[in-house]
Amino acid sequence: MNTAREPLIRLEGITKRFKNLTAVDRIDLDVFPGEKLVIIGPSGSGKSTLLRSINLLEEIDDGVIRFQGREVGYVTSHGRRHLDRPPAVCALRTEIGMVFQHFHLFPHMTVLGNVMEGPLIVRKMPLNEARQVATDMLSKVGLSDKRDVFPATLSGGQKQRVAIARALAMRPKLMLFDEPTSALDPELVGEVFDTIHTLADEGMTMIIVTHHMGFARELADRVIFMESGHFLAQGNPHEFFSVGQENERIRSFLNRLL
Ligand code: ADP
Ligand code: MG
Repeated sequence: MNTAREPLIRLEGITKRFKNLTAVDRIDLDVFPGEKLVIIGPSGSGKSTLLRSINLLEEIDDGVIRFQGREVGYVTSHGRRHLDRPPAVCALRTEIGMVFQHFHLFPHMTVLGNVMEGPLIVRKMPLNEARQVATDMLSKVGLSDKRDVFPATLSGGQKQRVAIARALAMRPKLMLFDEPTSALDPELVGEVFDTIHTLADEGMTMIIVTHHMGFARELADRVIFMESGHFLAQGNPHEFFSVGQENERIRSFLNRLL
């Protein structure tokens, strides 16, 4: 990566607590345009909370988030909340697409309706334009023939590809994937990874939480190991999977996945 460029997103000291549990503990992170980051780590280490904090789905307790250099949401250490600045929060959310483990499609809408919803309601696009964007995104994820069906009739892999199309329809600059394949039957994992790969090849900036080390190795520019709200180690996949083996906690984590 050319680190002389400005990061797309910069986290400075991001902290999120749940009562007396610190789920995310003073995390600093720069993600550069086009970078593919994979975050791994044991269950409960704060990976989802970190992604949710980036997308401002969690109100952080401390730290600063900058998107393209612009400060978008933060809470001071004195507890004064600045997240209630709706324009900045909404603007950030439209720039960041998120894909969850459990799809979260709207069950009462067709596939096309699901993908059109963001452009129509949030981007306030005219109907024809939103339909065109949604049609294009469904074609990109290989689901043009499913546009008029309801989510309940789809396989898990298809649902997740609709969820990806729906996120892409907002034309995000950053995509967050939180264990996008962990609710899928093994034979459906590949089609979702292929879709994510296509996006990666097109230069999308992305942060992916996954337990699939083969995928991480193949796709990531950088792998980060998270534990107890901290980044314990990070590096390019080659460094990570060789040097990481020297760290007892990472080694035992990786061995458990095999
Ligand atoms: P991971 O995604 O790495 O499994 P999470 O970010 O989901 O970890 O959770 C980190 C820690 O925060 C865990 O101990 C979890 O129980 C706790 N946690 C997450 N969400 C909440 C919540 N809404 N309320 C209370 N505790 C939470
Ligand atoms: Mg999680």
